[in-house]
Amino acid sequence: MEAPQKTVIVGAGPVGSLAALYAAQRGHQVEVYELRPDLRNPGIVPLNFTKSINLAVSERGIHALRLAGHPTLLKSIMDATIPMRGRMIHGRSPTRALYEHSQDYDAKGRAIYAIDRSGLNSRLLDVLDSMPNVKLFFNHKLTGADFNACRAWFEARDQVASPNDRFREIEIGFDLMIGADGAHSAVRYHIMKFSRMDYQQEYIDTLWCEFQLGPRETASQDDPWAKFQISPNHLHIWPGKDFMFIAIPSEDGSFTCTLFLPSRQFAELENDPCTLPAFFNQHFPGVTDLIPSESLISSFQENPHLPLISLRCRPYHHGSSGIIIGDAAHAMVPFYGQGMNAGMEDVRILFSVLDKHVDVSENHLNDKGNAAVMLPISRAKALAEYSAVREPDAHAINELALQNYVEMRSSVLSKRYRLRKFLEEYMSTNLPSLGWHTKYSRVSFSNEPYADIVRQSDHQGRVLLWSFVGLLASPFAVTGLALACRHRRTLMSGLYSLLGMNAARSG
Ligand code: FAD
Repeated sequence: MEAPQKTVIVGAGPVGSLAALYAAQRGHQVEVYELRPDLRNPGIVPLNFTKSINLAVSERGIHALRLAGHPTLLKSIMDATIPMRGRMIHGRSPTRALYEHSQDYDAKGRAIYAIDRSGLNSRLLDVLDSMPNVKLFFNHKLTGADFNACRAWFEARDQVASPNDRFREIEIGFDLMIGADGAHSAVRYHIMKFSRMDYQQEYIDTLWCEFQLGPRETASQDDPWAKFQISPNHLHIWPGKDFMFIAIPSEDGSFTCTLFLPSRQFAELENDPCTLPAFFNQHFPGVTDLIPSESLISSFQENPHLPLISLRCRPYHHGSSGIIIGDAAHAMVPFYGQGMNAGMEDVRILFSVLDKHVDVSENHLNDKGNAAVMLPISRAKALAEYSAVREPDAHAINELALQNYVEMRSSVLSKRYRLRKFLEEYMSTNLPSLGWHTKYSRVSFSNEPYADIVRQSDHQGRVLLWSFVGLLASPFAVTGLALACRHRRTLMSGLYSLLGMNAARSG
């Protein structure tokens, strides 16, 4: 019997681990190589993050987990999530009173889910550990790859305690290498030597830093929600026009918070961190009531101030031997909460394309006599198809993520944004046959290709604009407008209450 396909995954982050599971389920002989130590060991901090980072997982990530072919994986992961049904916008009214205003993500009440990135990653690694055809190699750094000869080289560290530990070089062979090694991908770098890959990267002028908002200290044990200082079912945003502060809930009652700020302002605060509480009081009202000033200052001083990269490239593959997925292929700014979701969707789509190119008659029998080993008759064809299918969608979500920064930090407060959201949600609920949905709900609650969503949303925008122009041009509208001008004040307050714009609460 022919040996099963050897699939080497580089990077054991969420995307690489899921890709390993998909390959293992298809009977491949899977080897996963990860630069860092096993994050399941106590004290191991994932690259570029602090102790823990909470992410929003939504339909695309969930769907990819659902199709991974493991009976309990999805449930065990979702059991440790917290649903977030909307944004909670925090601010100060003209009378200086604190307010919070909830904006649901979806007219049908669907939610995105806060998840601990390390928990998700650990669960995937546990599943891989239990599979006989998967080998995990931690402390292994890819240093070279020849995609024509299908050979790769790794630096293997014997010990992990200090960066000066000795390492040895190992050489391996592979049939297919899947690069899921993040934004600074070594696999991408080596594929570029073999394929005419176009590549473009951009750092936006914003840095980010993490803070912790602790649980309520005097919470009653009987009420599971009492431990949260602010609503656990929202992604909290303090919009600041050119910057913002956000908070995502964790199961223990705390929130992982992130400050996004232009680099110049970061530098000013770095010069004098004692001004941080005053800065927060001015721009993010109420935060210093939730996070003590000392904790704000120490987090700012101790946690890294990290850049945000957005990158696009094409194609994603070389011949039949190499492919990149996840952040390695399309790292994006985090403002649509889609980076990991899109990476997991890459895995689902990649394997569905590979499956399509399998010649069923060539399937091999595994140890139990089941047809489990799938050998693509033309893997090169499948990889080329994947690159062609995925490129427009990856580019579209990259662009949407950049645009959503403006939406999160300032548009959420604008009347135009809220009017469009209201109208699209109204159409979605009351005229479902028209198939109208907001862009956000299509991105977060469906598996529609991202590029189709952009086209559909642009179309909806044009229809709304022309309907509005048509309405204004009608004779009734002219009379109505004259009346509206006379009774502007009364009408405006009616319209505001219709759109929920006075939902802000003092307190
Ligand atoms: P990574 O998580 O970067 O994993 C790559 C792995 O490869 C790492 O373990 C690394 O050690 C390893 N590696 C690197 N080089 C080598 C090498 N040479 N040899 C071997 N191994 C190597 N996404 C969402 O979906 N929702 C969110 O809410 C969200 N919020 C975010 C908030 C912030 C502040 C940031 C920065 C990102 C956020 N993201 C979010 C994006 C998300 O974190 C990434 O898209 C996701 O982690 C990408 O997963 P990955 O497995 O492709 O890459």
